[in-house]
Amino acid sequence: MSLNFDPDKVALPVGHFIGGELIAAEGAIEMRRPSDGKAYAACPVAGVDMIDRAVESAKGALTSSNWGGVRPRERTRALQAWADLMEAEAATLARIEALSSTRPVGQLVAGDIAVTAEQIRFFAEFADKEGSELVPTDDASLGMIMSEPYGVVGAITPWNFPISMAGWKLGPALAAGNAVVLKPSEMTPFSAVYLAELAVRAGLPAGLINVVLGDGPTTGTALTGHAEIAKVSFTGSTRAGSAIMENVARTGVKPMTLELGGKSPQIVFADADLDKAAAAIAGSVTFNAGQACVAGTRLIVEKGIADRLTAAIVERMKAVRPGPTWDQATQYSPIISERQRARVDSIVRAAVGPGGECLTGGVAMDAPGYFYEPTLIANVDQANPAIVEEIFGPVLTVQTFDTEEEALALASHPTYGLASGLFTADLSRTIRLARKLEAGTVWVNRYSRSRDHILPTGGYKRSGIGKDLGREAYLANRRTKSVLVSL
Ligand code: NAD
Repeated sequence: MSLNFDPDKVALPVGHFIGGELIAAEGAIEMRRPSDGKAYAACPVAGVDMIDRAVESAKGALTSSNWGGVRPRERTRALQAWADLMEAEAATLARIEALSSTRPVGQLVAGDIAVTAEQIRFFAEFADKEGSELVPTDDASLGMIMSEPYGVVGAITPWNFPISMAGWKLGPALAAGNAVVLKPSEMTPFSAVYLAELAVRAGLPAGLINVVLGDGPTTGTALTGHAEIAKVSFTGSTRAGSAIMENVARTGVKPMTLELGGKSPQIVFADADLDKAAAAIAGSVTFNAGQACVAGTRLIVEKGIADRLTAAIVERMKAVRPGPTWDQATQYSPIISERQRARVDSIVRAAVGPGGECLTGGVAMDAPGYFYEPTLIANVDQANPAIVEEIFGPVLTVQTFDTEEEALALASHPTYGLASGLFTADLSRTIRLARKLEAGTVWVNRYSRSRDHILPTGGYKRSGIGKDLGREAYLANRRTKSVLVSL
């Protein structure tokens, strides 16, 4: 079946989704399609009243359905039914997502949506396998660590992988017995609304997932500062993460999971399989046009192989096939907005000015929409913004080293520590460097998360606090209470 679609004929669920119903709202933020720049919709902005309504709906759903107190297996089954429906409705979900976002429709169905459904199932399976436990005490006492859901979780997600990011938040929070008020990015809000609709159709209690649309300053601030939001789960920029911490500190105290920005290095030693390294490195900065938190945007390569490796990467970068996100054959994505493309270009210009050399790319693509050529920049020093700033575009820099110590020094970033890539055939060096690299994830002889949901993901340094995915993400959505009974 062809997934190609006409972008002028997609029915969008424009509105907030509260208590199991779509609440139509007037659009306030103009939205343009990244693939051709055409204005097509406007995103509503929820204020304090709408957030109150969503939180009340979540609390009501928890009480009426006893979601946190039912046999855990019931939560497992309900979430599995939702994951099944997500896959059954993948074509519709993909159309809604591909219209607003940079994700090509073909990659969505086989990738983002299939993986998200699998991750929901993965978290659903924790519901009856993690819980309260007895602890050793003397004969006259009974000690317990009770595990409980928080209540209503406030979740905020970015625009780069809207369905996946919504799944990372909703899966563990719901499996752990919470309700959620989710605010997706104002640039890509409608797939989250449709996901919530599907949840109700699959039998999850209405009000368990509420989606409020809007921007950060108005809607996001009202959500994170709401007195009855018991926990905040955020994915986005380090700048917004800091603002959320401030707001939460000002309005109350609550636990937070923050998945923030990155500027990840990829270190390649001369003994590595260079073809494999070139494919992984080029793939990591061209996938979603580099608009991924873990994009491995800083190549750090042993001097003797630098020319061979960069030539192989350039060849792959030149082979990308751009196209509109509604064409199933498209592999290479546009940048999310004109503004973001201008930012990418300005960082490239600033690098090339003081001596940096573009080995390929460095210009916007001559095509409709906001496409930018995959770019490789050499001869930039460690303080250049192209090395320091998270560009969030298809831009790779290359630096060279002679010794392992030099490689580590170049890899270390003053603020970010999200992921690192390491390419070498030497096992001892692998373990030695994996221990020393300051990053929440170290990929060795590959550079992708793939489908390993069991591995927690999250950052060191200012790349974040806490983890998404893995058992840690489930446990982060439960709190524990110590109970000691005198017998
Ligand atoms: P962003 O920080 O601008 O926005 C993210 C979300 O936060 C949006 O929904 C936005 O409306 C909201 N927001 C912004 N300011 C807010 C505030 N003061 N209070 C509450 N909410 C606020 O990020 P973006 O441009 O949408 O996404 C790109 C960023 O996300 C990059 O920095 C990227 O590295 C990061 N990211 C991180 C991960 C991870 O797992 N670590 C994954 C994906 C994206």
